[in-house]
Amino acid sequence: MTNANRQITFAARPTTWVGEEHFALQTNTIPTPGNGEMLVRNLYMSVDPYMRGMMNTGPSYAAALEIGDVLSCRVVGQVVTSNNPDFVAGDFLFGMLRWEEYSIACGHEDLRKINPDLAPISWHLGVLGAPGLTAWVGMMELGQPKAGETVFVSAASGAVGQIAGQLARLHGARVVGSAGSDAKLAYVLDQCRYDAGFNYKSVSSFDAALAEHCPNGIDVYFDNVGGAMLDAVLLAANEFARLTECGMISQYNLDEPRGIHNLALFARKRLKMQGFIVRDHYHLLPQYLIDMAGWQKSGEVTYREDIAEGLEAAPSAFIRMLKGENFGKQVVQIATV
Ligand code: NDP
Repeated sequence: MTNANRQITFAARPTTWVGEEHFALQTNTIPTPGNGEMLVRNLYMSVDPYMRGMMNTGPSYAAALEIGDVLSCRVVGQVVTSNNPDFVAGDFLFGMLRWEEYSIACGHEDLRKINPDLAPISWHLGVLGAPGLTAWVGMMELGQPKAGETVFVSAASGAVGQIAGQLARLHGARVVGSAGSDAKLAYVLDQCRYDAGFNYKSVSSFDAALAEHCPNGIDVYFDNVGGAMLDAVLLAANEFARLTECGMISQYNLDEPRGIHNLALFARKRLKMQGFIVRDHYHLLPQYLIDMAGWQKSGEVTYREDIAEGLEAAPSAFIRMLKGENFGKQVVQIATV
């Protein structure tokens, strides 16, 4: 192994759309772990929508990046050397590390060991990690779909959306999804077995599409996109509908957020909307993983990921994902085992 550690840094702050010019590739030396620390060789990294919020100076639920920072993200890696009694060289783990080939982990990065024989290790950045738990918390804890109810999921083929809809289906709901291409819609309908759906980029109006595909109205909305779709859902929602606010990706690259116009319907329809952040619910991960392992084994839940190759591909993979060009959970493979 050479002593070089390539890293991606935050080079400039975007005001609207993020581009490759906002990142830089730098080479450093591989650090030496200190007392209680480990050196981790990073194998897969995650690119996630919340990282766009970290690039702003305004409020976000993750700390703002400073120019020159190496970007932080969830990583799957393998321990090279360990001074931490809980891990030995060769262990696979996942946790919050950085966009770089080798990271020092001091044990406070929410690290968890991975059994590499259970599933592809990259899945711990998706269905067996934070996006999967996000879907579970948002759908099961907050949405609480009941048999026969209509559940609508936006960004339905994505990391969170594909799992959220399948969970609702497993609990007896009629599940409807929207996605940004015909291929994504086909995946949602045929593989994830949603009951209905539409390509939101090819419909003439969101209101008409929701009326057609949700003829009994919407009882639970799992919101991944916000914006005009949220307004249309407020019109289509039934009385006492639950709206799970997971994210508003349609707004993340705008300099001014689009306002929501149908808020008056909250009182008239007695709607309930609740936002959440997955990190407040990590204590539920062990139970979620047990449930999900069973559903994977029985074939009841499918999962798709989109793998970009090489550390230097991370900025373009991140931008592609924000533009909707990913198909499934976007990860970046940095090295092979
Ligand atoms: P995805 O894998 O779903 O990728 C993002 C997708 O968003 C794109 O593929 C695209 O799908 C869709 N999209 C992009 N721009 C728009 C737009 N203008 N209008 C509508 N859809 C758009 O990402 P994740 O599953 O990781 O994240 C989905 C949502 O969940 C995000 O809002 C994210 O912030 C949120 N999230 C929240 C968490 C929490 O703790 N609350 C944790 C993790 C994620 P398409 O082609 O279908 O448009």
